[in-house]
Amino acid sequence: MSLLRIKCPSCGEVQDITANGPCRKCSNALVLPEDGVIQIYRMGSPLGIAVGMGIYLNEVPLGYLANAEQIRIPVAYGHYKVHMTHGANRRCKDAEFDITPENRFVYLKARLKMGLITNTVVIEPSTADQMPAN
Ligand SMILES: [Zn+2]
Repeated sequence: MSLLRIKCPSCGEVQDITANGPCRKCSNALVLPEDGVIQIYRMGSPLGIAVGMGIYLNEVPLGYLANAEQIRIPVAYGHYKVHMTHGANRRCKDAEFDITPENRFVYLKARLKMGLITNTVVIEPSTADQMPAN
Protein backbone atom coordinates (compact mmCIF):
# COMPACT_ATOMS: atom_id res chain seq x y z
CA MET A 1 0.00 0.00 0.00
CA SER A 2 1.34 3.41 -0.87
CA LEU A 3 2.27 5.79 1.90
CA LEU A 4 0.15 8.66 3.16
CA ARG A 5 1.58 12.12 2.76
CA ILE A 6 0.80 14.70 5.38
CA LYS A 7 2.04 18.15 6.34
CA CYS A 8 2.40 18.53 10.09
CA PRO A 9 -0.05 21.22 11.26
CA SER A 10 2.33 22.16 14.08
CA CYS A 11 5.72 22.51 12.38
CA GLY A 12 4.91 22.20 8.67
CA GLU A 13 7.20 19.20 8.05
CA VAL A 14 6.01 17.17 5.06
CA GLN A 15 6.32 13.44 5.66
CA ASP A 16 5.08 10.04 4.52
CA ILE A 17 3.45 7.85 7.15
CA THR A 18 1.37 4.68 7.36
CA ALA A 19 -0.93 5.63 10.25
CA ASN A 20 -1.63 8.24 12.89
CA GLY A 21 1.43 8.88 15.04
CA PRO A 22 3.97 11.46 16.15
CA CYS A 23 5.52 13.96 13.73
CA ARG A 24 9.08 12.87 12.95
CA LYS A 25 10.31 16.42 13.49
CA CYS A 26 8.36 17.99 16.36
CA SER A 27 6.73 14.85 17.86
CA ASN A 28 3.28 16.43 17.96
CA ALA A 29 0.47 14.02 17.11
CA LEU A 30 -0.41 13.69 13.43
CA VAL A 31 -4.07 12.93 12.90
CA LEU A 32 -4.94 11.99 9.34
CA PRO A 33 -8.09 13.47 7.80
CA GLU A 34 -10.44 10.60 6.97
CA ASP A 35 -13.02 12.13 4.64
CA GLY A 36 -11.26 11.31 1.41
CA VAL A 37 -8.01 10.49 -0.36
CA ILE A 38 -6.27 12.00 -3.34
CA GLN A 39 -4.02 9.43 -4.95
CA ILE A 40 -1.40 10.65 -7.42
CA TYR A 41 0.67 8.39 -9.66
CA ARG A 42 3.57 9.76 -11.64
CA MET A 43 3.64 7.66 -14.76
CA GLY A 44 6.97 5.99 -15.48
CA SER A 45 8.81 7.79 -18.25
CA PRO A 46 12.38 8.05 -19.54
CA LEU A 47 12.00 11.85 -19.52
CA GLY A 48 13.50 13.86 -16.69
CA ILE A 49 13.69 10.85 -14.39
CA ALA A 50 16.21 12.32 -11.94
CA VAL A 51 14.00 15.29 -11.09
CA GLY A 52 11.26 14.95 -8.52
CA MET A 53 7.93 16.51 -9.37
CA GLY A 54 6.84 19.08 -6.80
CA ILE A 55 3.29 18.64 -5.52
CA TYR A 56 1.09 21.62 -4.55
CA LEU A 57 -2.32 21.08 -3.01
CA ASN A 58 -4.33 24.33 -2.98
CA GLU A 59 -1.02 26.18 -3.39
CA VAL A 60 0.51 24.45 -0.35
CA PRO A 61 3.76 22.59 -1.17
CA LEU A 62 3.53 18.90 -0.30
CA GLY A 63 6.95 17.52 -1.15
CA TYR A 64 8.00 15.61 -4.23
CA LEU A 65 7.07 12.59 -6.30
CA ALA A 66 9.75 10.45 -7.95
CA ASN A 67 9.43 8.80 -11.34
CA ALA A 68 6.96 5.89 -11.40
CA GLU A 69 5.98 6.48 -7.77
CA GLN A 70 2.61 7.19 -6.23
CA ILE A 71 1.40 8.87 -3.09
CA ARG A 72 -1.89 9.14 -1.23
CA ILE A 73 -2.95 12.40 0.40
CA PRO A 74 -5.69 12.08 3.02
CA VAL A 75 -7.99 15.12 2.99
CA ALA A 76 -11.15 16.59 4.49
CA TYR A 77 -14.18 17.32 2.32
CA GLY A 78 -13.62 20.40 0.21
CA HIS A 79 -12.48 21.87 -3.08
CA TYR A 80 -8.99 21.01 -4.22
CA LYS A 81 -6.56 21.97 -6.92
CA VAL A 82 -3.49 19.86 -7.58
CA HIS A 83 -0.56 21.58 -9.27
CA MET A 84 2.76 19.94 -10.03
CA THR A 85 6.14 21.21 -11.13
CA HIS A 86 9.16 19.57 -12.71
CA GLY A 87 12.41 21.25 -11.65
CA ALA A 88 12.32 24.93 -12.59
CA ASN A 89 9.45 24.17 -14.94
CA ARG A 90 6.19 25.36 -13.44
CA ARG A 91 3.96 24.82 -16.45
CA CYS A 92 1.18 22.46 -15.52
CA LYS A 93 -2.27 21.38 -16.59
CA ASP A 94 -3.77 21.36 -13.09
CA ALA A 95 -6.45 19.04 -11.77
CA GLU A 96 -9.36 20.63 -9.89
CA PHE A 97 -12.19 18.79 -8.14
CA ASP A 98 -14.32 18.46 -5.03
CA ILE A 99 -14.00 15.79 -2.37
CA THR A 100 -17.56 15.08 -1.17
CA PRO A 101 -19.38 12.17 0.51
CA GLU A 102 -20.28 10.99 -3.01
CA ASN A 103 -16.76 11.52 -4.36
CA ARG A 104 -14.34 10.51 -1.63
CA PHE A 105 -11.54 9.05 -3.74
CA VAL A 106 -9.82 10.90 -6.52
CA TYR A 107 -7.19 9.22 -8.68
CA LEU A 108 -4.78 11.26 -10.76
CA LYS A 109 -2.04 10.42 -13.22
CA ALA A 110 0.79 12.87 -13.82
CA ARG A 111 3.11 12.86 -16.79
CA LEU A 112 5.63 15.11 -18.47
CA LYS A 113 4.61 16.31 -21.91
CA MET A 114 7.51 17.35 -24.10
CA GLY A 115 7.29 20.68 -25.84
CA LEU A 116 9.60 22.34 -28.33
CA ILE A 117 10.87 24.84 -25.78
CA THR A 118 9.37 23.96 -22.43
CA ASN A 119 7.78 20.85 -21.06
CA THR A 120 4.44 20.72 -19.31
CA VAL A 121 3.29 18.54 -16.44
CA VAL A 122 -0.12 17.14 -17.31
CA ILE A 123 -2.36 15.86 -14.50
CA GLU A 124 -5.26 13.74 -15.69
CA PRO A 125 -8.17 12.07 -13.88
CA SER A 126 -7.75 8.33 -13.58
CA THR A 127 -9.34 5.32 -11.91
CA ALA A 128 -8.37 2.93 -9.13
CA ASP A 129 -7.52 0.12 -11.54
CA GLN A 130 -5.05 2.38 -13.35
CA MET A 131 -2.99 2.85 -10.19
CA PRO A 132 0.05 0.62 -9.59
CA ALA A 133 -0.55 -2.15 -7.07
CA ASN A 134 2.36 -1.28 -4.75
ZN1 LIG B 1 5.69 18.51 13.30
